[in-house]
Amino acid sequence: MRKLSQVYYVSEIFVSIQGEGSVIGEPSNFVRLAGCHLRCVWCDTKYSWFKWEGKRMSVEDITNSLDKRVRNVTITGGEPLLYDLTPLAKALKEEGFRIVVETSGTIRPSQGLRRLVDVFSVSPKLSNSGHKIKYDFRNEDWPTYFKFVIVDANKDLDEVDQFVKEQGLDPRKVILQPNGLRGDYEAAFRELAQAVLFKGLPYRVLPQLHRLVGLK
Ligand code: SF4
Repeated sequence: MRKLSQVYYVSEIFVSIQGEGSVIGEPSNFVRLAGCHLRCVWCDTKYSWFKWEGKRMSVEDITNSLDKRVRNVTITGGEPLLYDLTPLAKALKEEGFRIVVETSGTIRPSQGLRRLVDVFSVSPKLSNSGHKIKYDFRNEDWPTYFKFVIVDANKDLDEVDQFVKEQGLDPRKVILQPNGLRGDYEAAFRELAQAVLFKGLPYRVLPQLHRLVGLK
Protein backbone atom coordinates (compact mmCIF):
# COMPACT_ATOMS: atom_id res chain seq x y z
CA MET A 1 0.00 0.00 0.00
CA ARG A 2 1.31 3.43 -0.90
CA LYS A 3 2.16 5.46 2.15
CA LEU A 4 0.38 8.79 2.36
CA SER A 5 2.80 11.64 2.12
CA GLN A 6 3.11 13.80 5.23
CA VAL A 7 0.56 16.55 5.47
CA TYR A 8 1.07 19.79 7.36
CA TYR A 9 -1.43 22.44 8.41
CA VAL A 10 0.10 25.78 7.56
CA SER A 11 -0.92 29.05 9.13
CA GLU A 12 1.16 31.22 6.78
CA ILE A 13 4.25 31.29 4.57
CA PHE A 14 6.08 34.57 4.05
CA VAL A 15 9.51 36.11 3.58
CA SER A 16 11.08 38.52 6.06
CA ILE A 17 14.29 39.07 7.92
CA GLN A 18 14.97 36.89 10.93
CA GLY A 19 14.04 39.12 13.82
CA GLU A 20 15.32 37.03 16.71
CA GLY A 21 18.13 34.98 18.15
CA SER A 22 21.56 34.14 16.80
CA VAL A 23 20.44 34.37 13.14
CA ILE A 24 19.02 37.87 13.61
CA GLY A 25 19.04 40.00 10.47
CA GLU A 26 19.22 37.16 7.94
CA PRO A 27 16.58 37.02 5.18
CA SER A 28 14.44 33.91 5.58
CA ASN A 29 11.37 32.13 4.33
CA PHE A 30 9.01 31.53 7.24
CA VAL A 31 6.72 28.51 7.38
CA ARG A 32 4.33 28.88 10.30
CA LEU A 33 2.68 25.58 11.15
CA ALA A 34 -0.71 25.64 12.83
CA GLY A 35 -1.29 24.01 16.21
CA CYS A 36 0.08 24.58 19.68
CA HIS A 37 -0.46 22.68 22.94
CA LEU A 38 0.46 25.73 25.06
CA ARG A 39 -1.52 28.92 25.57
CA CYS A 40 1.07 31.49 26.65
CA VAL A 41 -0.61 34.64 27.97
CA TRP A 42 1.62 36.94 25.90
CA CYS A 43 1.52 34.82 22.72
CA ASP A 44 1.68 37.09 19.66
CA THR A 45 0.66 34.35 17.20
CA LYS A 46 -2.63 33.19 18.70
CA TYR A 47 -3.95 32.78 15.15
CA SER A 48 -1.66 29.74 14.87
CA TRP A 49 -3.02 27.86 17.90
CA PHE A 50 -5.46 25.59 16.11
CA LYS A 51 -4.40 23.04 13.54
CA TRP A 52 -7.76 23.00 11.76
CA GLU A 53 -7.44 26.71 11.01
CA GLY A 54 -4.32 26.06 8.95
CA LYS A 55 -4.19 25.27 5.24
CA ARG A 56 -3.58 21.58 4.51
CA MET A 57 -0.33 21.34 2.51
CA SER A 58 2.02 18.59 1.38
CA VAL A 59 5.81 18.86 1.44
CA GLU A 60 5.69 19.72 -2.26
CA ASP A 61 3.04 22.40 -1.72
CA ILE A 62 5.27 24.02 0.90
CA THR A 63 8.53 23.88 -1.06
CA ASN A 64 6.73 25.26 -4.14
CA SER A 65 5.55 28.24 -2.05
CA LEU A 66 9.04 29.31 -0.97
CA ASP A 67 11.07 32.17 -2.40
CA LYS A 68 14.03 30.19 -3.74
CA ARG A 69 16.26 33.27 -3.85
CA VAL A 70 16.20 33.28 -0.03
CA ARG A 71 18.31 30.39 1.22
CA ASN A 72 17.01 30.12 4.80
CA VAL A 73 13.79 28.51 5.94
CA THR A 74 12.49 29.11 9.45
CA ILE A 75 9.90 26.58 10.56
CA THR A 76 7.88 28.12 13.34
CA GLY A 77 4.45 27.95 14.90
CA GLY A 78 2.53 27.30 16.93
CA GLU A 79 4.68 24.40 18.02
CA PRO A 80 6.24 22.86 14.90
CA LEU A 81 7.54 19.80 16.75
CA LEU A 82 3.95 18.59 17.13
CA TYR A 83 4.51 17.44 13.53
CA ASP A 84 6.93 14.91 12.11
CA LEU A 85 9.17 17.49 10.46
CA THR A 86 11.61 14.97 8.97
CA PRO A 87 9.98 14.69 5.50
CA LEU A 88 9.81 18.48 5.17
CA ALA A 89 13.35 18.98 6.48
CA LYS A 90 14.69 16.31 4.08
CA ALA A 91 13.07 18.04 1.11
CA LEU A 92 14.41 21.42 2.20
CA LYS A 93 17.93 20.02 2.60
CA GLU A 94 17.74 18.43 -0.85
CA GLU A 95 17.06 21.93 -2.19
CA GLY A 96 20.03 23.30 -0.25
CA PHE A 97 18.16 25.38 2.33
CA ARG A 98 19.50 26.17 5.77
CA ILE A 99 16.86 25.23 8.34
CA VAL A 100 15.95 26.98 11.57
CA VAL A 101 13.29 25.42 13.82
CA GLU A 102 11.69 27.57 16.52
CA THR A 103 10.22 25.59 19.40
CA SER A 104 9.05 25.91 22.99
CA GLY A 105 11.45 23.09 23.94
CA THR A 106 8.65 20.93 25.37
CA ILE A 107 8.99 18.22 22.69
CA ARG A 108 12.29 16.52 21.91
CA PRO A 109 13.18 16.28 18.21
CA SER A 110 14.09 12.86 16.80
CA GLN A 111 17.73 12.03 16.15
CA GLY A 112 17.00 12.07 12.41
CA LEU A 113 15.58 15.57 12.56
CA ARG A 114 18.53 16.79 14.62
CA ARG A 115 20.85 15.80 11.77
CA LEU A 116 18.82 17.82 9.27
CA VAL A 117 18.19 21.04 11.21
CA ASP A 118 20.92 23.69 11.33
CA VAL A 119 19.58 25.79 14.19
CA PHE A 120 17.14 24.91 16.97
CA SER A 121 15.91 28.12 18.56
CA VAL A 122 14.43 27.00 21.88
CA SER A 123 12.20 29.34 23.85
CA PRO A 124 11.54 27.85 27.30
CA LYS A 125 8.46 29.33 28.92
CA LEU A 126 8.96 31.16 32.20
CA SER A 127 6.14 31.53 34.74
CA ASN A 128 5.24 34.87 33.06
CA SER A 129 3.73 32.74 30.25
CA GLY A 130 1.11 31.39 32.65
CA HIS A 131 2.75 27.95 32.67
CA LYS A 132 4.84 26.03 35.13
CA ILE A 133 6.78 23.68 32.85
CA LYS A 134 9.33 21.22 34.19
CA TYR A 135 12.16 21.29 31.67
CA ASP A 136 15.23 19.11 31.73
CA PHE A 137 17.97 20.09 29.29
CA ARG A 138 20.82 18.71 31.40
CA ASN A 139 21.67 15.87 28.99
CA GLU A 140 20.43 17.54 25.82
CA ASP A 141 22.81 18.81 23.17
CA TRP A 142 20.34 19.70 20.41
CA PRO A 143 19.27 23.27 21.36
CA THR A 144 21.43 25.78 19.48
CA TYR A 145 20.40 28.64 21.71
CA PHE A 146 17.78 29.50 24.31
CA LYS A 147 15.59 32.56 23.99
CA PHE A 148 13.65 33.88 26.97
CA VAL A 149 10.78 36.39 26.78
CA ILE A 150 11.01 38.91 29.60
CA VAL A 151 7.88 40.68 30.87
CA ASP A 152 9.00 41.99 34.27
CA ALA A 153 12.80 42.34 34.27
CA ASN A 154 13.19 42.36 38.06
CA LYS A 155 11.29 39.13 38.59
CA ASP A 156 11.98 37.27 35.35
CA LEU A 157 15.77 37.76 35.27
CA ASP A 158 16.14 35.95 38.59
CA GLU A 159 14.05 33.10 37.19
CA VAL A 160 16.19 32.94 34.03
CA ASP A 161 19.39 32.96 36.05
CA GLN A 162 18.13 30.15 38.27
CA PHE A 163 16.97 28.19 35.21
CA VAL A 164 20.34 28.54 33.47
CA LYS A 165 22.24 27.41 36.56
CA GLU A 166 19.92 24.48 37.37
CA GLN A 167 19.96 23.25 33.76
CA GLY A 168 23.70 23.78 33.35
CA LEU A 169 23.24 25.93 30.21
CA ASP A 170 26.12 27.76 28.59
CA PRO A 171 25.40 31.48 29.26
CA ARG A 172 26.67 32.28 25.73
CA LYS A 173 23.69 30.31 24.38
CA VAL A 174 21.18 32.44 26.29
CA ILE A 175 19.34 35.35 24.67
CA LEU A 176 16.85 37.65 26.40
CA GLN A 177 14.20 39.65 24.58
CA PRO A 178 11.41 41.94 25.81
CA ASN A 179 7.80 40.91 25.57
CA GLY A 180 6.71 41.84 22.06
CA LEU A 181 3.18 42.85 23.05
CA ARG A 182 4.32 45.92 24.98
CA GLY A 183 3.38 49.06 23.08
CA ASP A 184 6.52 51.02 24.01
CA TYR A 185 8.88 48.35 22.72
CA GLU A 186 12.02 50.50 22.68
CA ALA A 187 11.44 51.48 26.33
CA ALA A 188 10.91 47.82 27.24
CA PHE A 189 14.19 46.93 25.53
CA ARG A 190 16.04 49.74 27.31
CA GLU A 191 14.65 48.69 30.71
CA LEU A 192 15.68 45.09 30.10
CA ALA A 193 19.20 46.05 29.01
CA GLN A 194 19.60 48.29 32.06
CA ALA A 195 18.38 45.55 34.41
CA VAL A 196 20.83 43.03 32.90
CA LEU A 197 23.70 45.49 33.38
CA PHE A 198 22.55 46.37 36.92
CA LYS A 199 22.44 42.70 37.92
CA GLY A 200 25.77 41.96 36.21
CA LEU A 201 24.29 39.08 34.17
CA PRO A 202 26.27 37.54 31.28
CA TYR A 203 23.34 37.07 28.87
CA ARG A 204 22.78 38.69 25.48
CA VAL A 205 19.88 41.11 25.13
CA LEU A 206 18.31 41.40 21.69
CA PRO A 207 15.17 43.14 20.42
CA GLN A 208 12.78 41.53 17.96
CA LEU A 209 14.32 43.32 15.00
CA HIS A 210 11.32 42.90 12.69
CA ARG A 211 9.15 44.68 15.28
CA LEU A 212 11.49 47.68 15.41
CA VAL A 213 11.43 48.19 11.66
CA GLY A 214 7.74 47.38 11.14
CA LEU A 215 8.20 44.09 9.26
CA LYS A 216 6.14 40.95 9.74
S1 SF4 B 1 4.39 28.16 22.61
FE1 SF4 B 1 4.59 29.86 21.16
S2 SF4 B 1 2.81 29.66 19.78
FE2 SF4 B 1 2.41 28.37 21.57
S3 SF4 B 1 1.19 29.69 22.92
FE3 SF4 B 1 3.34 29.89 23.55
S4 SF4 B 1 4.13 31.67 22.40
FE4 SF4 B 1 2.20 31.03 21.41
